[in-house]
Amino acid sequence: MNIFDEIGDKESVFKDKKYLDHRFLPDRLPHREEQIRSIAKYWVEALNGVTPPDITIYGKTGTGKTAVAKFAMKQLKEASRDCDVNIRTEYIRCTDYTTEYQVIARLCQQLGRDVPYRGWTKAEIVNTFRNMFKKNAFGQDMILLVVLDEIDILLRNDGDGLLYTLTRTDNVSILSISNYVEFKKFIKPRVRSSLRDREIVFPPYGAQQLVDILEERSKLSFKEGALDDDVIPLCAALAAKEEGDARYALDLLRTAGEIADERDSDIVKGEFVREAKDYIEHNKITDIILTLPSQQQRVLEAILYLTKRKEEITSGRLYEVYKEISKGDSVSYRRIFDFINELEMLGLISTNTVSRGRGKGRTNIIDLQCETSLLEDSLWGV
Ligand code: ADP
Ligand code: MG
Repeated sequence: MNIFDEIGDKESVFKDKKYLDHRFLPDRLPHREEQIRSIAKYWVEALNGVTPPDITIYGKTGTGKTAVAKFAMKQLKEASRDCDVNIRTEYIRCTDYTTEYQVIARLCQQLGRDVPYRGWTKAEIVNTFRNMFKKNAFGQDMILLVVLDEIDILLRNDGDGLLYTLTRTDNVSILSISNYVEFKKFIKPRVRSSLRDREIVFPPYGAQQLVDILEERSKLSFKEGALDDDVIPLCAALAAKEEGDARYALDLLRTAGEIADERDSDIVKGEFVREAKDYIEHNKITDIILTLPSQQQRVLEAILYLTKRKEEITSGRLYEVYKEISKGDSVSYRRIFDFINELEMLGLISTNTVSRGRGKGRTNIIDLQCETSLLEDSLWGV
C-alpha cells in the first residue's frame, strides 16, 4: 500500500479541518449581528451612489473584527451586483502592506493600473491613484470602500500620510480596524478632522457566546459524536478568560482534535483541551523568544542564569552577567533598561521596585514570569 494512501486513510475525529482554519469565513457570525448591521447601515449609501462615511472598528484580538469586515464586504458585493453604481471593495492587511506607498500601489493594481511597488515617488503614485476617480468617459463614478485591517501597525510605522491621502480622495470610504483602542494618538489633528469616522466597538465574547460560535464550527469540522460533552464548554471557558478571544477558542478545539488523532482516540476528551492549552502557550512563548533580537535573547539568558542560581536580579547584577554572556559584543548599561521594559511588556518578566532603607535608594528587582525549562528549550533548542 502507498504510504500516502495509508496515512491519508487514517481514522480521524475530523470531518473537514479547514472549517477550523483562521482564513475560513463562516456564513453566519453569531453575536455579531449588531456590528454587521451597523456597518451595513453606513455602507448601504453606496448603493445609492453616495460615498459612505468612514468607519473605525475597535476591539481586542479574536473579537471577530476581520471576520465581520470581510462578511460585510461579501454582502455588499452581492447586493451591488444588480445595481448600476460602480462599487469596489478592497481589503488591505497593513501587516502585508506597511507603508502609504505600498497600500496605494496595491490599490492601483487592484483597480487595474499597473504600477511598480517601488521606484516611483510618492506624489506620482498618489496622483495616479487620484486620477482613477476622475469621471470616466461614461460619466460614471466609482465608489471605493477600503478596509485597512490592523491599521495601528501602519500608523506606527509610516505615520498618518495614508489616511490623509485617502480622506482627501473623492469617492473613497475607509473602514479601519484596530486592536489597539488608542491608535488615534498616531493621527495628527489635521488628518483627524478629515476622518469624520463612525466608531463601532467589538466587546470580548463571553463564555456562552463562545459556546455558540464553537458549536457551529464543530458541526462543520468534526464527525458526529466525536466531541465529549465537556469539550466545547471547556474551550469556551478558557478562551473567555483570555479576553474573549474566539481565535484562541478555535485553536484550542482544533489542537484538542489533533491530540485525539495522535493518540488514536476516536473521541476528543476534556483532558485533551487542557493539554492543548499547555501546548499552545508553550508555542506562543517559544515564538516570542525566537523572534527577539539576539541582544535581547542574551539579556533573557542572563535572567535565566541568575534565576537558576536563585540570585536576586538587580539591573546592575543583570548587566554584569549579560556582559559575560555577550563576550564583548554588548550594548550599553542604559540600553538594558529598554530591553527590560520590552521583555516586561511581552509578559516574559516582571519588575518590582523595592526600597533598601534610608539613604540607600530604591532598586528594581526582576522576576522571570515563565518556566525556566521553557526558556531553556527556546533559547538553546531541545
Ligand atoms: P479579530 O480580527 O478581531 O482579531 P477575527 O475576525 O480574526 O478576530 O476572528 C478570529 C477567529 O474567530 C476567526 O477564525 C473567525 O472566523 C472566528 N470568529 C470570530 N467571531 C466569530 C463569530 N461571531 N462567529 C463565528 N466565528 C467567529
Ligand atoms: Mg483581525
